[in-house]
Amino acid sequence: MNKTIEQIKEDALKEIEAASDSKKINDLSVRYLGRKGAVTQFLRTIASLPKEKRAEAGKKANKTKKSLDKAFKEALIQIETRSAAIEDSIDVSLPGRIVNHGSLHPITQITRQICDIFSRLGFAIAEGPEVETDYYNFEALNIPKNHPARDMQDTFYISQNIVLRTHTSPTQPRIMEKQKPPLRIIAPGKVYRCDSDLTHTPMFQQVEGLLVDRRVSFGDLKGILTTFIHQIFDDQTSLRFRPSFFPFTEPSAEVDIRCVMCRGKGCRVCSQTGWLEIIGAGMVHPAVFENVGYDTSVFTGFAFGMGIERIAMLKYGIDDIRKYYENDLRFLRQF
Ligand SMILES: [Zn+2]
Repeated sequence: MNKTIEQIKEDALKEIEAASDSKKINDLSVRYLGRKGAVTQFLRTIASLPKEKRAEAGKKANKTKKSLDKAFKEALIQIETRSAAIEDSIDVSLPGRIVNHGSLHPITQITRQICDIFSRLGFAIAEGPEVETDYYNFEALNIPKNHPARDMQDTFYISQNIVLRTHTSPTQPRIMEKQKPPLRIIAPGKVYRCDSDLTHTPMFQQVEGLLVDRRVSFGDLKGILTTFIHQIFDDQTSLRFRPSFFPFTEPSAEVDIRCVMCRGKGCRVCSQTGWLEIIGAGMVHPAVFENVGYDTSVFTGFAFGMGIERIAMLKYGIDDIRKYYENDLRFLRQF
């Protein structure tokens, strides 16, 4: 007994369901709808049926043919869509692409650490111009023209009265002209001197500090700097103050710290002395206060300055300052 058209349809749908690729679907299509296919064969048998049954059987067979044709087409579309989706999808077994993250330059990191420490001590952050007038860079700081102290600094002159600032100290008179005491500021920034070797670059960075109030003493200066050194290095780092000279402070001091490399035993970094000179400081010279109109009978203050690269070199154990500015990624990636 031949299969009924309903059985043929049922079998075909089952096989379509099970087919996994487009070749199988095409083969099935030929097997059912091709010239020798099951549906075609069935259509041929209709002629041998009794006359009254032919019309209905023909109708059913054609309907089945159409619906199977549709089922084959839909199955093909489904398979193609699925394989396209697989091609587009992520292969989780592949190694990942490396994303290069940028990071802060070591000098920026140290500058921020220094600013954070002084911010916690109540200092505000101030800025000044890098192209500075002779007046703010020298004269307002008690360094008149022809003063021998000008020889201490190899100045880049833009014109007779305009210089690239040789220190961050001009920020002091600039701020004091605008603000009445009490005052607590630090001023980080770039400074310029005509100098280049293992420990000097023509452009480098300093942080300037200034505190002005009633009854400020040298003891306050020692307290602030000791707190700072203990925080930026560690609280085992001892300090010593040596008398020194700066035109804009009186008395003045060089502040040394116990060598952080050898802990005072003596090494190449500290030239076998066990000490490192890192900060210049002192009580603000009355002449500087007079230049900005502060009453020297009421107010006293202290100022200090240090090189940021110097702090960074000691913290990271770098012996050549130029490494910070060569932009060698192998160096910079280590921070
Ligand atoms: Zn040392």
